[in-house]
Amino acid sequence: MEKKPLYEGKAKQMFATENPDELLVYYKDDATAFNGEKKGIITDKGVLNNKIATFFFELLGKAGIPHHLLKRLSDREMLVKKLTILPVEVVVRNIAAGSLAKRLGLAEGTKMAKTVLEFYYKDDELGDPMINDYHIAAMNLATPEQIQKVSEYALKTNEILSAYLKEKDLELIDFKLEFGLYKGEVILGDEISPDTCRFWDSKTGEKMDKDRFRRDLGNGEEAYKEVLYRLTGEK
Ligand code: 5GP
Repeated sequence: MEKKPLYEGKAKQMFATENPDELLVYYKDDATAFNGEKKGIITDKGVLNNKIATFFFELLGKAGIPHHLLKRLSDREMLVKKLTILPVEVVVRNIAAGSLAKRLGLAEGTKMAKTVLEFYYKDDELGDPMINDYHIAAMNLATPEQIQKVSEYALKTNEILSAYLKEKDLELIDFKLEFGLYKGEVILGDEISPDTCRFWDSKTGEKMDKDRFRRDLGNGEEAYKEVLYRLTGEK
């Protein structure tokens, strides 16, 4: 397949293909945190995230959530629909952790009475500030109908993933999604992986996600491998 480099992000590289409606995504091992201030490598992360994201997209697709994955092509590559990404990151939280715990003074691990849905303006220079639907409308980042769909898909994704992960003794603490437009429709894009979610072992509380890198806990590769194993049985 002919590949023309289009854009290199922190964890993935995008290539144009001969089909203008499709992109090739290459998953790297690079890990960054704190808006790129901390940099490192998690060995084989690209291979593991490509497989984990493929598994999650297929699971969500079966439940009727439209997503960009067309096919996993190799260990590190997937073919996806080319989306016009909405400049809004969507975070869903079940249990207080990370920035929410800090901002609201809640102990990490506090079970909240209701699922929290948050929006962030996707802008590295500004450090992705939190926004609400009024800001989204005021800045024309998306239409109210698009945000309605985004919210519906994000909350449904939470239900599907939380239930599946619970069976595998993993608690879905929180996660980030990105959406885009494809032929006018709202579609789930980017990736769903331990880079973009918090997973805690239901029995031990152990962190099985990128917080191992962010917080220098070690054994990042082992945690990502364990997540893939629990989801798919693949060693
Ligand atoms: P927090 O706001 O607590 O830092 O993150 C909440 C959740 O969203 C976590 O699961 C985290 O992994 C994910 N998340 C939020 N922003 C980003 C981001 O810019 N990159 C990645 N990889 N994940 C993010």
